[in-house]
Amino acid sequence: MNSYKQWQEQAQSITLITDAFINGEFVGSETGETLTSINPATGEILAEVASCSDIDADIAVAGARAAFQSGVWSRIPNAERKKILLKLADLIEENRDKFALIDTLDMGKPISDCVYFDVPTTVDTFRWSAEAIDKIYGEISPTTDSSLALITREPVGVVAAIVPWNYPLMMASWKIAPALAAGNCVILKPSEKSPLSALYLAELAKTAGIPDGVLNVLPGSGHTVGKALALHPDVDVIAFTGSTKVAGQLMEYAGQSNLKRTWLEAGGKSPCIIFADCEDLEAAASAVALGIFSNQGEVCIATSRLIIEDSIKDEFIPLLIEEAKKYTPGDPLNPDTMMGALVDQQHLDQVLACIGKGKTEGANLLFGGESVQVNDKGCYIQPTIFTGAQQDMEIVQHEIFGPVLAISTFSGWEEAIQLANDSKYGLGAGIWTSNLKKAHKTARELQAGMVWINNWAGSDTTTPFGGVKQSGNARDKSLHSLEKYTEIKTTWIDLS
Ligand code: NAD
Repeated sequence: MNSYKQWQEQAQSITLITDAFINGEFVGSETGETLTSINPATGEILAEVASCSDIDADIAVAGARAAFQSGVWSRIPNAERKKILLKLADLIEENRDKFALIDTLDMGKPISDCVYFDVPTTVDTFRWSAEAIDKIYGEISPTTDSSLALITREPVGVVAAIVPWNYPLMMASWKIAPALAAGNCVILKPSEKSPLSALYLAELAKTAGIPDGVLNVLPGSGHTVGKALALHPDVDVIAFTGSTKVAGQLMEYAGQSNLKRTWLEAGGKSPCIIFADCEDLEAAASAVALGIFSNQGEVCIATSRLIIEDSIKDEFIPLLIEEAKKYTPGDPLNPDTMMGALVDQQHLDQVLACIGKGKTEGANLLFGGESVQVNDKGCYIQPTIFTGAQQDMEIVQHEIFGPVLAISTFSGWEEAIQLANDSKYGLGAGIWTSNLKKAHKTARELQAGMVWINNWAGSDTTTPFGGVKQSGNARDKSLHSLEKYTEIKTTWIDLS
């Protein structure tokens, strides 16, 4: 791992790709418009990036459709597709530091997180998806003696992957690796707040041998190029990660256009219940802090609601505060930094407004709550803890997407379940208890796509990631992710 000084030096000399990637070529947007990418840790301009519109979307969709129809990717032997995706995984791994630096500069996250989590997870996702290609079999249906009914899976066609800024490279990989593995052509629309690693990924995809038109990257804003893709009559699938609000709009666009499959991974307000019989409160405090303060709280599964049994709160809260102090904001390029900068000034203002609302609604601001600067600049905020949170408060119901924890208390099992499920979201949920029966019973009751018992965010490539209720309708990772990118076909053969 590089030193702080080495990262700072590399940041000065990094070369960034700023053009869109369409049909195998890097090109400016047809309108010539650009979006300014700003490093939120310093306020400095990083790059002027092509800002695509519906015109670029049309060109990319036509190219992706032509590539799909030609069979240059969808019909080549599975082993060949697998080899190319494995090569891409190797290239990402070889260029780990460059990817880490790009995402750190583009959205403010700590470099250590990128080096040890975002990039390795991306590499795993490509390898695992590639390896899955030739291990999935069709089925034969148990019909009658006089027939043979085959159930096979086919790629859907053109997939538009629309992703957020909080894990720019990793979120993109969760969509495009399984979509490409299944034989589709993909148009990736990175967030306007963090487009740079997706463009570098495109360059490596070309080097790895992914044919022209099979992977395209269209940077630009959501309401222009994102909307154009979602409304496009020749896009077959929208694979989306982002806010619940935009997820709803995408469903409308699908309805208005061609009923494209619309897979949504949306927002969260994940509860963590700590029962009085939790045998390791220190471990729980460390996990809660990690859950809400890592990645500046800009995490869909952030532990933003702590629901703790009343009898242990006085013992637990000092432990939590000690953990919170470890997340003092610092320069994201310093490998020791555990909390970097928020993605931009607009987001910082929104998080501060939510903290203000928490105070006026009567919650008790126990820790943090202020914006700060590092080296006299940047969009930083202190890790923030509220106690006395009530269910009708905005800090309990609204996804703040920043390092803000709302703590409420309960005094019986039913109350804990009721508080945890009182949310429009259902992404993750945590349980801390030493009672096995209680752990299972609680897990069964919680309305969430993922439940963690005595840990937070346990996950790997083999386990599905996604939520219920307004947290979405889809799963990334695991073999289940391939279901989004394949259609089932029944072929009935008469043997009579
Ligand atoms: P966002 O919804 O604002 O944007 C996500 C993407 O959608 C961006 O690329 C954006 O440009 C695009 N977009 C915006 N409006 C659009 C429109 N009208 N049509 C088409 N595309 C449009 O979300 P964000 O601020 O980038 O990310 C934060 C959100 O992402 C949070 O709610 C977080 O919980 C969620 N998230 C969810 C998961 C998950 O797995 N469930 C993971 C990470 C982030």
